[in-house]
Amino acid sequence: MSQNKTCVVIGASHGGVNFAFALRKEGWKGAIVLIDKDQTTPYHRPPLSKKYLELEDSIQNNLLKPLESYEKDNITLSLGKEVAKIDKENKTISLSDGTSQKYDVLVLATGARAFVPPISGINKAKNVFTLRNAKDVEGIRTAFHNSKQKNIVVIGGGYIGLETAASLKKLGANVTVLEREERILARVTTPYLSEFFANLHKANGVHIDVDKSVTEIQSDGNKNTVVCADGTTYPSDLVVVGVGIRVNQELASDIGLEINNGIVVNTATQTSEKDIYAIGDCTFHYNKIYDVHVRLESVQNAVDQAKVAAANICGKATVYDALPWFWSDQYDVKLQIVGLSQNFDSYVVRNEGAMKFSIWYFKNDRLLAVDAINNAKSYVMGTKFIKTEAKIDKEKLADAAVNIKDVLIN
Ligand SMILES: Cc1cc2nc3c(=O)[nH]c(=O)nc-3n(C[C@H](O)[C@H](O)[C@H](O)COP(=O)(O)OP(=O)(O)OC[C@H]3O[C@@H](n4cnc5c(N)ncnc54)[C@H](O)[C@@H]3O)c2cc1C
Repeated sequence: MSQNKTCVVIGASHGGVNFAFALRKEGWKGAIVLIDKDQTTPYHRPPLSKKYLELEDSIQNNLLKPLESYEKDNITLSLGKEVAKIDKENKTISLSDGTSQKYDVLVLATGARAFVPPISGINKAKNVFTLRNAKDVEGIRTAFHNSKQKNIVVIGGGYIGLETAASLKKLGANVTVLEREERILARVTTPYLSEFFANLHKANGVHIDVDKSVTEIQSDGNKNTVVCADGTTYPSDLVVVGVGIRVNQELASDIGLEINNGIVVNTATQTSEKDIYAIGDCTFHYNKIYDVHVRLESVQNAVDQAKVAAANICGKATVYDALPWFWSDQYDVKLQIVGLSQNFDSYVVRNEGAMKFSIWYFKNDRLLAVDAINNAKSYVMGTKFIKTEAKIDKEKLADAAVNIKDVLIN
């Protein structure tokens, strides 16, 4: 059936690449064309702020798939090409180099880009970087090595900002993190975990200042001064901006696809247009476990949706019903998160040591999510308990002397 058809994928990152290979595996016999404006062979994004930055690793060690795999699976990888427009009536996409490409099925895996906040002078100043792709890391590395004092200001105390701070600290930089809210990670976690990470960074010599709204970056040659609303100033050789993302949804919105905090897809990852699917960071989708619509920024979500899209396109009706998970590495600390903690009404901390604990989030006594610090067992058991909707005795849970397997209410 798919013999003479073409499936075009826009975006060759975690979503697009996994989709292309999954589509072949599902039995698609036609052409698969995978397009990305990035020139680099598709690579893993999470290490960019972690090992890749810290160990000054080569991108060749971080590829999603070896280059030969694309040829082997007859996937046309078209890099350094930006898709400018979709013509859904004629099922054609136009590229910014003036060429076009027909499709029978189109998959949007366009992800997101780093948000550049409207800070005065930010576009003029030298050595100011966001961190979304390999080229950003190359820029950071070069500026870092060229700087004498190695004073680095990271704007934004979210996961990417903090991971970047930890990696640059390990490389020997003097790092200050400026966070606009009253605590780091305020948007994504509890004060308990925020405090843990704040202390962790302090112990490792990273300076964190909260309630700091950056208003201006003044530049003098290669040197910058970061200015905050309260008048404080921070000299810096290098500024890394990690204040969130913007979804790459314009191609979809231009052709009238439904948009709501991302490209809206159904549980089969299909957009409001029958032959156009969307996967990964760019999608706003239904999560059955939590009965909410969400947009997730995680590798797991991109990979799961890729598999669901591939199966559905090949005629195997499949529903996306994954339990979200995520991780972050900072210094020697591994945080693993399972579930969505939004709207929790209580939480329990299970302390198994200063650097080993877990936070369990509940709503009406139903376990929603677990944040596990250096604690794979709690992460694994938490996953199981959420999936089985297990009833948990919170007092026992809080007592680390009680085996995690014995915290259930029968
Ligand atoms: C520094 C960093 C650290 C992270 N750490 C973690 C982590 O620890 N754990 C985790 O789960 N997730 C992490 N993430 C998030 C994770 O990388 C994303 O969730 C994942 O990359 C999403 O994949 P995606 O394919 O949906 O989108 P993206 O990775 O954003 O890829 C989209 C691709 O589409 C291309 N594109 C967009 N528009 C066009 C166009 N018009 N024409 C051609 N190409 C286009 C882009 O160039 C890009 O390559 C991290 C992200 C970053 C940046």
